Amino acid sequence: MYADIIVNLSVKSIDRPYTYRIPPVLEDRITPGIPVMVPFGSGGRVLKGYVIGIHKTASLEENRIKDIIEICEKSNGIEEKMLLLAAWIKEQFGSTMNDAIRCCLPVRDKVMTKTSATVSAACEKEKLEEALKEAKNKNRAARVRLYEAVLKMGEIDRTFVTKELKISTAVLRDVEEKGLIRVTTVDLVRGPYKDITERDMPPELTPGQKEITGSIKADLRTGKRGDYLIFGETGSGKTEIYMDIISECIAAGKQAIMLIPEISLTYQTVSRFIKRFGQRVSIMNSRLSFGERFDQYMRAKNGETDIMIGPRSALFAPFENLGIIIIDEEHETSYKSDLTPKYHAREVALKRGELEGASVILGSATPSLESYAMAKEGRLKLFKLMGRTGNAVHPDVYLVDMREELKKKNRSMFSYTLKEQITYRLARGEQIMLFLNRRGYSAVISCRECGSVIKCPHCDVSMTLHRDGNMICHYCGYTVESTNVCPKCGSRYIGTFGAGTQKVEEELLKVWPQARILRMDSDSVRKKGSMDELLKTFEKGEADILLGTQMIVKGHDFPNVTLVGILLADLSLYAPDIRAGERTFELIAQASGRSGRGSKKGNVVIQTYDPENYAIVCAAKRDFETFFEEEMAYRIAMGYPPAGVMLEIGVSSEKEDMVNDAVKQLADEVRKIYCDRGRFKVIGPAKASLYKVRDVFRMVIYVKSYDGKGLRTLCEELRPKADALPFDSVRVEYSFNL
Ligand code: ADP
Ligand code: ZN
Ligand code: ZN
Repeated sequence: MYADIIVNLSVKSIDRPYTYRIPPVLEDRITPGIPVMVPFGSGGRVLKGYVIGIHKTASLEENRIKDIIEICEKSNGIEEKMLLLAAWIKEQFGSTMNDAIRCCLPVRDKVMTKTSATVSAACEKEKLEEALKEAKNKNRAARVRLYEAVLKMGEIDRTFVTKELKISTAVLRDVEEKGLIRVTTVDLVRGPYKDITERDMPPELTPGQKEITGSIKADLRTGKRGDYLIFGETGSGKTEIYMDIISECIAAGKQAIMLIPEISLTYQTVSRFIKRFGQRVSIMNSRLSFGERFDQYMRAKNGETDIMIGPRSALFAPFENLGIIIIDEEHETSYKSDLTPKYHAREVALKRGELEGASVILGSATPSLESYAMAKEGRLKLFKLMGRTGNAVHPDVYLVDMREELKKKNRSMFSYTLKEQITYRLARGEQIMLFLNRRGYSAVISCRECGSVIKCPHCDVSMTLHRDGNMICHYCGYTVESTNVCPKCGSRYIGTFGAGTQKVEEELLKVWPQARILRMDSDSVRKKGSMDELLKTFEKGEADILLGTQMIVKGHDFPNVTLVGILLADLSLYAPDIRAGERTFELIAQASGRSGRGSKKGNVVIQTYDPENYAIVCAAKRDFETFFEEEMAYRIAMGYPPAGVMLEIGVSSEKEDMVNDAVKQLADEVRKIYCDRGRFKVIGPAKASLYKVRDVFRMVIYVKSYDGKGLRTLCEELRPKADALPFDSVRVEYSFNL
């Protein structure tokens, strides 16, 4: 047996591991991620290395391969823990070890961090003026320029000082040491938060909150790690619970990771943590450059921070003494990585917690089927937090059957109930949120003569018509002028279909011309910061109606909103996704949660063409238990997660014929390996739901089974067979439980 070993953790060494022989005595103890001692180079130096792969054969000549000396028994460094996590990710999610290591152990690349700095006075103005006088007397021109500039401008950019004023680093250092000038590094990440100096005191927790924190903190104090699920609706006070537990953790000298979905990672949310914990908070988000992100990781590693807040990548913060990992809104789809390794943050958090003795808290108003099933099995300790804080009461929910509206000759997109409610709320000066699961002027352009839909020539998805007369593909951005003749049959009966937010806005203005409307969809918030601005405008009461796509549903707290309208509740039911029911339930529940957050009672109007659907009915009743039972029964019947495990094998290439040939041959191999073993079902091959994206063709094969372990083991048998297929430009990717 042979092992691939890296001897230091850098990008280069991960790409070029060295081969060592595994002495027979060590054979059953060597696993990926494990640290070992190996001889290195010709001088007989002994270095510590990490096993990242194991093989039966080696490509080197036998006499050039050295033996592993021994296993390092003590595994306590953070790198080692993260490597073990990487090894687990590789197994669990079907990635390569390389991809898993890159994900868990961010290493310094060639990219240099751009940190900007400013130069300002470090002393009283008089003292600086004195220094200026002295410098003039002594003819020290550089200092004269510097002092004059600082006296005149206050704060100056460091690059301006070095490039324009031509002050050398030596001079800067000298005046800094003399206490005249201060050079401040501006942390680009924390820039918007750096001026927050106020600290808020934690509120007295409610009995419900105390019961939960008491129980978790008791576990923490006795050094017992635990995994918990807090099922509490939005506004019930979960964040206060998180902060209380984080305090306890920090007081015990440990660190905390707080995962929040990117979309909820707003100024409002982050500043709440900074007000509570001060500046020892690191923030991660996907807009950071590689270098900036690396800096945040380093701050964690160097002990400069106690809390890492961010989306799923924050999970890999290299804290040496991690006490707790919290995942808020754990049901969010963004916790599943869509890049390799296609890991799920929830699963990785539970594993990291186990490896490092840290506790894990999952929180949600609409738990994922996965978490709730784990709670029912006792794998997670379940806490329920019911009722909203303050005086807020639940809104009344109206479920409107749009087919009935049509019978009553109402052809508009607003039901009678919704119209009545909007008029009533506008008259009282209360605010309204309208939610539509679409974007663009009007969605699809179809031909009523031949039935064809205009699609993007690169992506095979429908084009969307915009008000400026262009059609846009929302996957690749392909833009083309709209047409009024069907490209297929030449008919002029061609037009839009369904409604987008712009269209709804126009209709609203026709009925309520006085209404002040804010439209929020991915087109209107594409500009950086414009989403925060729109939300602020609405918060200040400068608009009556906030109209938007799913992005308005998440976690915003507007006390004056008393009406939420969901225009096409069932749209998400038709998505080609095994979790369509779960998504629909979640969307409706979250949207409803926006209404009546303050002291005024609110209403929710749900418009649907499918009012009997259990996801919609249960969501309207806020009945998660019944929804869970029904949905779980469906998953069990179908063998879908969390009842079963699914392996998705994606095959892609820029050459269409190549992808088709390869996927057929691969499917044969897959069937050979899995079908005879009985407990597995192979589906496909089929075109991926997005068959063509950016000129790459994608096909998929699914294998599902109730035997997850077997599915993973056999996947290892499949890999070399897939690698041996005679196609060069075809990529094969494996992923479990998409
Ligand atoms: P969630 O995270 O479940 O949405 P939050 O913790 O954000 O809930 O609480 C909702 C609102 O109620 C926040 O404004 C919060 O400051 C407030 N709040 C929560 N707990 C308490 C408490 N014990 N006393 C007073 N206000 C509270
Ligand atoms: Zn046509
Ligand atoms: Zn496209």
